[in-house]
Amino acid sequence: MHEECGVFGVWAPGSDVARMTCFGLQALQHRGQESAGIAVGDGRAICVEKNLGLVTQVFDEASLSALKGMLTVGHVRYSTSGGGAWEMAQPHLASIEDVPFALAHNGTLTNTEELRAHLDELRIPLMAGTDSELAAKLIAHLTCQTHHLREGIAQAMERIRGAYAMVVCTAEALYAFRDPYGIRPLVLGELPDERGWVISSETCGLDIVGARFVREVAPGEILRVNGEGIASSLGRAPKPRASCIFEYVYFARPDSVIDGQNVYAARQACGRILATEAPAQADLVLGVPDSGVPAALGFANESGIPYADGIVKNRYVGRTFIQPTQEMRQLGIRLKLNPLPDVIGGKRCVVIDDSVVRGNTSKKLVAMLRAAGAAEVHLRITSPQILWPCYYGIDTDTREQLIAANKTLEEMCAWMGADSLAFLSLEGLREAVSGVEHPGFCEACFTGIYPER
Ligand code: SF4
Repeated sequence: MHEECGVFGVWAPGSDVARMTCFGLQALQHRGQESAGIAVGDGRAICVEKNLGLVTQVFDEASLSALKGMLTVGHVRYSTSGGGAWEMAQPHLASIEDVPFALAHNGTLTNTEELRAHLDELRIPLMAGTDSELAAKLIAHLTCQTHHLREGIAQAMERIRGAYAMVVCTAEALYAFRDPYGIRPLVLGELPDERGWVISSETCGLDIVGARFVREVAPGEILRVNGEGIASSLGRAPKPRASCIFEYVYFARPDSVIDGQNVYAARQACGRILATEAPAQADLVLGVPDSGVPAALGFANESGIPYADGIVKNRYVGRTFIQPTQEMRQLGIRLKLNPLPDVIGGKRCVVIDDSVVRGNTSKKLVAMLRAAGAAEVHLRITSPQILWPCYYGIDTDTREQLIAANKTLEEMCAWMGADSLAFLSLEGLREAVSGVEHPGFCEACFTGIYPER
C-alpha cells in the first residue's frame, strides 16, 4: 500500500515563501516520493518548478532563489492516477482566459470518465491525463463563465466526485478546498507575528515552518487568502463525515494531529488493544518500522512482553529513479528492512505491522526473521483485514489481488509461514481513534461500504 500525495500552500508577502514550501514538502515527503513541485505567485505572474524525484532532488539553492513571490502552492506526488511521467508532476498549470493558475491535489476523483467526456464535448484539450488536470480544466472553464474563481471552484465541486484536498494559487490569491466528506486531511495554520497563512495536508507541515495550527479546512469549504485577508465560503454542503481511518494506521506522520487525534497515540492504542484482542506467548515484541513501532510499544506495555529493536530500517531507500535489478529484487525487502540476529536469535517474537495487502511483504518478513534465528514468529496487524480496494487516493489492488479477500485467516497464516496471525478488529481500530473531534470515518477497504455509494 502506498501513500497518496501531499499538498502545501503559503500566503506570506515579504517572506521566502518558496523556501518555506520546500521545507513543508519535505515534512510531507512520506506522502509521495515520485515528484515534487512548487508554484509561486508574485502578484503579476506565476512561476512553476517541478520534476520527478524527492524534494531535495528537485530543489536546490539556485532553484529556490529563483522562485520569488508572495504565495505558493506545492505538491509531493505518488502516482495513483495516470502514471509517473514528468507531465503528471504537480502543481498543474492551467489558465483562465490566459490568466494562469496552479493546482495541487491530494486524493483521487472517481468520475473521471464523465469529466473527460464533458471536457471533450467542450473541446477543451487535455495533456497530462490525470484527474487533477480534469479538475483544473473544469475550474478554468467554469470560472470563465462565472468570472469569479471562487464561484468556478464551487461549481466544479458540484461536478467532481471522489476524494480531494486541493490548493490553488493565482498570481495574487491562495485557495484551499476539500471534498464534502473530508476524506483526505487538510489543515490551516498561521505564521507568527501575523506574517501569513499556511495550508498543509498534515500538521507536521505547519510545525516545520513554525506555523500555529488554526483549524481543519472543513469538508465542502473553500478558503481564500489574498491581500484582503482570509475568507471562508461553502463550496458544497458537507456530507456525513468520512475521514480516511487509514491515515491513523499508516499514511500520516506520527507527529501529526488529525481532527484532534494524535497519530502516534492512535498507533500506540492500536497495539494496546491488539494485545488484549489477540495475545501471544512470546519473549519479545518487535515493530516493523516505521508505523509498527509505536504500536509495538503499545502491545509491549499492555502484554508485559519486553519491546526490542529487532528490525532496522534503511531510511534512505525511497522511491527514487534508482530501481533495483531483478536479481537485487529477489533479495527481497532487505533493501528496506534488516533484522538483528543478536536480538531475535532463539526468541519467540511478536511482530507488529500496520497492514496486509497482497501478503508478499509479510511472507518475506517472516522468512527473514526465521533466517535471522527467530524461534517463533507471531504476526499481529494493527488494522482489520483489507478486503476491498480504495478508490480515494491509495493504490490498493483489485479484490483478486488482496490476500484477505481470497484466503481464510488460517490459509494466510500458513502461506506467510507464521506461527500465528491476527488482525485488529474494526471496533478496536475505532476505539484507538476515539479522540477525534468529528467522528465519522471512511472504512471502505475493510467493509466495502464507500462514502459515495
Ligand atoms: S478505502 Fe480505506 S484507504 Fe481508502 S480512503 Fe477509505 S479508509 Fe482510507
